[in-house]
Amino acid sequence: MSDSPRVLLAAPRGYCAGVDRAVVAVEKALELYGPPVYVRKEIVHNKHVVTTLEKRGAIFVDETGEVPEGATVVFSAHGVAPVVHEEAKALSLKTIDATCPLVTKVHREAVRFAADDFDILLIGHEGHEEVVGTSGEAPEHITLVDGPDHVAEIEVRDPEKVVWLSQTTLSVDETMETVRRLREKFPALQDPPSDDICYATQNRQLAVKQMAAQCDLMIVVGSRNSSNSVRLVEVALEHGTRDGHLVDYAEEIDPAWFEGVRTVGVTSGASVPEILVRDVLALLAEHGYADVEPVVAAEESLLFALPMELRRDLKAAGMDDKMRHDAGSLEDAGQLR
Ligand code: SF4
Repeated sequence: MSDSPRVLLAAPRGYCAGVDRAVVAVEKALELYGPPVYVRKEIVHNKHVVTTLEKRGAIFVDETGEVPEGATVVFSAHGVAPVVHEEAKALSLKTIDATCPLVTKVHREAVRFAADDFDILLIGHEGHEEVVGTSGEAPEHITLVDGPDHVAEIEVRDPEKVVWLSQTTLSVDETMETVRRLREKFPALQDPPSDDICYATQNRQLAVKQMAAQCDLMIVVGSRNSSNSVRLVEVALEHGTRDGHLVDYAEEIDPAWFEGVRTVGVTSGASVPEILVRDVLALLAEHGYADVEPVVAAEESLLFALPMELRRDLKAAGMDDKMRHDAGSLEDAGQLR
C-alpha cells in the first residue's frame, strides 16, 4: 500500500435537514418582511452562518425581551420552552418557529410522559439551549442527567415510573453508557418511543467511526458551541485517531498538526455549510494532501417543509414557499407524531 498523504472525507457531513430549514426560514423571512428580522439565539450553532445572516439584516438576540414590540422574531432550530412563546405573545411579536421537527418530537414526548406523571430523566448537556427548551415543557417532571458520571446523584419519586429522553445531538455511545447506569439504578426505566438522538447526529458519528482508526489526524469543521461537532472530535479520538481538532475556518489549522501525519480525516458538524469544508480541503491540498477519498456511511435525503406560519405568508405574497429541493416534509415522511 502506498504511504502517500491522503484525506478521508466523511459522508454524510455538514448540513442536516433541521439546520437547512432553519437557515432558509431566516433567509425567506428577510426576503418577505425585509430587514430587520430578529432571531432569538443563534439560529444554528455556526459562526459563519450567523455572520452571513447578520450581514443580510438578521439581528440576533439572547432573550425575547430584547425584540421591539410588534417585530418579527425567528426561534432557533434548538427549540424554545413554552414560556418563550408566552413572552413573544405579550410583546405582540410575529413569531416564526424554526425549531427542528426532531426536537419538537422530543418536546412532545416530554409533554406526554409528564401528563402520565412519569419522572423524565433527560440526558443532555446542562445549559444547552435544546435542553433548556425541552425541560421547559415539564419542569416539575424533568431531571437533567449530564452524562454517566451524574447518574449516582439522580433521585426519582417512583422508580417504577421512570423514562429517559435525550438531547438530539449527543454521542450515541456515551448516551448508551448513561442509560446502562441509569437502568442499573432504576431497572424499570423505560426507553423513549423512538431514538431521540437524531439521524444526522448518528450518521455523522457513524462515518467518523468508520474512518477513525485509519486517520492520524481528524479535522472537524464546526463551532465550539455546536454540540454535535464537539462530539465528532471525541468520537474520532475514542475510535483510534491520534489527534483531533475542531476548527471554524481553514485558517485556524496549524501546519504543525501535519507532523508525521499520512492520513487526515475531514468531516463537519450538522450546522456547517459545505463551503467551509471546501476551504479546508483546499488548504490540505496546499500542504500535499490532495488525494481525497470519500468514506460513505449512509445516504440522506430527508427534507423538512418550512415553518407553517412562514409558508402561509409566502404563499399569500405569491412567493416560493418551498425549501430549495423538492422532497417531502417530515410529516410526509411519517416521522412526526
Ligand atoms: S442535528 Fe438533528 S435535531 Fe438538530 S437540527 Fe439537525 S436534524 Fe434537527
